Amino acid sequence: MLLPNAFAYIPVDATKNTGGTISKGDRVVLISAKNTDDDEATTADMFFPIGVMGTVSESVIQGYIAIQTEDRVNIDQITYDGREFAVELTHRDDTDELDDDERYDRFIRMKGAVTNLMKKSNAPEWWRNFVSKLDSIEKITAASSLAMNLTPRQKYDVLAIDSERERSRKMEELVMELVEISETNFQSQLDQNKKNQKAYRESAIRHQMEYLQKELDELDPEGVSDIRRLEKRIEESGMNEVARKEAMKALNRMKQDGQNGHEYGTLYDYIDFLTGLPWKSEEPKEIDLEEAEKILDEDHFGLEKVKDRIIQQIAVMNLNRKQYGTILLFVGAPGTGKTSIGQSIAKALGREYVRVSLGGIRDEAEKRGHRRTYIGAMPGRIMDGIHKCGSSNPVMMLDEVDKLYASYNGDPASALLEVLDPEQNSTFTDHYMNVPYDLSRVVFICTANDTDRIPYPLLNRMEIVQFPGYTPVDKMNIARRHLLPKAMDSMGISEKDLAIDDEAMRRIISDYTMEAGVRGLKKRIDTLCRIAAVNLVKGQGEPITVTPDNLRQYMGRKPIRYGRVLPDTRAGIVTGLCWTAGGGDIGFIESTLMPGRGKLIVTGQIGNVMKESIMIAVSLVQNMFPEYSRTFNEMDIHVHAPEGYIKKDGTSAGITVVTAISSLITGRTVAPEIAMTGEVSLRGRVMPVGGIPEKLMAAQRAGVKTVFIPQDNVDDLEDVADEVKEKLEIVPVTYVGEVLERVGIFSD
Ligand code: ADP
Repeated sequence: MLLPNAFAYIPVDATKNTGGTISKGDRVVLISAKNTDDDEATTADMFFPIGVMGTVSESVIQGYIAIQTEDRVNIDQITYDGREFAVELTHRDDTDELDDDERYDRFIRMKGAVTNLMKKSNAPEWWRNFVSKLDSIEKITAASSLAMNLTPRQKYDVLAIDSERERSRKMEELVMELVEISETNFQSQLDQNKKNQKAYRESAIRHQMEYLQKELDELDPEGVSDIRRLEKRIEESGMNEVARKEAMKALNRMKQDGQNGHEYGTLYDYIDFLTGLPWKSEEPKEIDLEEAEKILDEDHFGLEKVKDRIIQQIAVMNLNRKQYGTILLFVGAPGTGKTSIGQSIAKALGREYVRVSLGGIRDEAEKRGHRRTYIGAMPGRIMDGIHKCGSSNPVMMLDEVDKLYASYNGDPASALLEVLDPEQNSTFTDHYMNVPYDLSRVVFICTANDTDRIPYPLLNRMEIVQFPGYTPVDKMNIARRHLLPKAMDSMGISEKDLAIDDEAMRRIISDYTMEAGVRGLKKRIDTLCRIAAVNLVKGQGEPITVTPDNLRQYMGRKPIRYGRVLPDTRAGIVTGLCWTAGGGDIGFIESTLMPGRGKLIVTGQIGNVMKESIMIAVSLVQNMFPEYSRTFNEMDIHVHAPEGYIKKDGTSAGITVVTAISSLITGRTVAPEIAMTGEVSLRGRVMPVGGIPEKLMAAQRAGVKTVFIPQDNVDDLEDVADEVKEKLEIVPVTYVGEVLERVGIFSD
C-alpha cells in the first residue's frame, strides 16, 4: 500500500500503547492531517477520512520507521485525551483488483527504474540494500514516496482511489515521474560537475604558474620583476579592452622571448608607453567665466578680440560639457602670444597644457607614430604629448600647422584632420600603439604664422583667430607689465638692481627690434637682466639704470635698419608695403628706362608669381597710356623689387608696380610719403591682400603719410590699432586709376 511519509501513525492496539513509543510487531493505523503543519490536529475532521493499516516491521532504520502496510481503512472516529489518540476504523474494500501477472509486471518495471536511478545518483549503500529487498509494488512505491515531493492532499487522492488497477497505474506514473525528475537533475549535476572540474583545473594550473613564476623570480630577479611590474601596471591602468589585450599579447611575447631576446627591449618600451598613458576619463570642471576672464587678462596685455573669442569658446564648452565643434586656429607673426595664451586657456579651464610642435613634419608617421617594427620607433607626436602631460583631456596646442609638408610617406595634414575630427578622434589609432585612444576630450588649438600654406580641407575645419601684432605702445605695456617683471623675477633681481627708463625702452622697441610680436623684445630685456645679474653676483654694487645715452653700451650697435621713406625721389620709384617674417615693412619698387627694343628686365629676389604680376602691370600701363607706345617699343624697362618682397608679397606689389611704371613713362614723380599695397587685375581692378595691420604699422613707423589699400580690405582696418590709424591717411581704392589720379600722374 502507498505509504505517505507525512502520515501519522496511531497504534491501534491500545493495550500495547506505551506512551507514544512503538516497537516491532505493533499494529498501527497511518492517517494524515489535512494540513501537515497542523500539530494540533485532534478531531476526525482535521484528518483525511481514509488511512492504512500496518505492522511495524523494523522499529528504526537510519531514523526511519518501517511499517508493513496492509489494507485501507475508513477512519470513523478519532478521539484524543490530551495524551493519546484512539481511533475507530472500518475496513475499506478495493474494487477492480489486479491479477498477479499484471501486478508482477508493474513491480519489475518500477523496481528496475528505481534501482537504475540509485546506481547513477550514488545513493548510500544501506538505501540501495533496502530497495533491493523490496518485493512488492506497494513496497517500492512506499519507498519512493519518501523522495516524492507530494502534498498530503496529492497522496491522499491516490490512497482514496478504490479501483486497485487505477490506483496502481497512478502509482506507477508517480514513480516514473520521480525517476524522470531525478534523471534530469542528475544530468544537470553531471554538467555542473564538468564545469567545476574545468574551473578546478584552471585554478590549479594558475597556482602552479604562480609558483613557477616565484621560482623564476628567485633565479632571475631583474628580468621577471619587469614582467610582474608591467603586468600589474596593465591591470591598474584602466586601459580599454583592445589595449589591454594588445598589451598582454606583448607581455606574453616578452615572457617567451626572455630577457636576452632581441625584441625584449622594444616590447618593454611599448608596454611601458601604453601603461603610462592616462586611460581614465576625467570629468571637465565647472568653469567660472569671470575667473577665466581674469586669468586671461592677468597673463596677457591687449589682445581684446582674441580674448573675447576665447571666452565665447569657453562658455560654449561649459554648456556642452564637451569639446566644441570648431577648432580655433591662432594666426599671427612669431611672438604675438599665440602659444602662451594657450597656456592661459589651460589654466582657465583647469586642465593640463601640452604643446606639440608640428613644424617640419614631413611624414604622417611622425604624427601617428611608426609601426612598432621600426627599430627605435617613436610614438607619434600627438600621443607622445598625451603621454607627457599625463592627462586625457588637456589643452593641446598644435603648433605651426602651416609647416606640415606632404611627402611620399603619406599626407600629414590628413592625419591631422582625423585627429581634429570629433567623429573620428574618439578612436584615434596611433601606428605605434596600434590600439585606439580616445582624443575626443582633448581641447585642440592650432597655430600658424599664416594661412597660405595650410591645405584647404584642414583650414576649412578651423576658425581663424588673428593675432595682428603689437604697436609700439602695446609693446611698451607688455614690456613693463609682463616681460620685464617676469625676467627679473626668474633671475632673482629686484628693482634696486635694474631700472630701464621709458625712453630707453622705447628705443629698444624701435631701434633694436623689428617684429610684429615681442620675442625679440623679450630677448633684449632678458639680456639686460642677465647683465644686471652678473653685476649683482660680482658684487660691483652699482645698480644699473638704462637710459638712451648708455643703451648702446649694453645693447651694442643699433642692429635694425628698417625702411624709412626716402628723403627725395624721382620718377619711377614708388613706396610699397610688404609683409615680412617680422611683420611688415616698406619696400621701394624702382624702375628705369634705357634704350632698347621694348624688353622687360626684372631684377631682385623675386619668384615667378611676382614676375607675372610685373608683366600684368606693364601690359596694363601700356593700355592705359596708348600715347606712350613709342616708349614701350624703343626702350627697355627695368624693374627692381627689393628683398623685402620676396617672402610672400608675390602679387600685393601689383598696384605699386603699375604706379612706378606709370610714373616712369610719364616722368611724373610720386611723393615718397605715399605708400600702397594691392593686387591688380589685367583690367586694372585692385584686389585684396593679406597683412594689412602689419603693413600699416610699418608704414606709420617709416614715416608714410598716405596709404592706398584695396577697398575689399576695409574690414581689416578693425584690427589696426587706433594710434596707427590716427597718424595715417588711409585711402581705399577699387581701380588702379584712382591711385594714379590721386598721386598726380593722371592730372592733366
Ligand atoms: P607665439 O606663439 O605667437 O610665437 P609666444 O606665445 O611664444 O608667441 O610669445 C612669446 C613671448 O611673448 C612669451 O613669453 C609671451 O608670454 C609673451 N607675450 C606675447 N604676447 C603677450 C601679451 N599680449 N602680453 C604679455 N606677454 C605676451
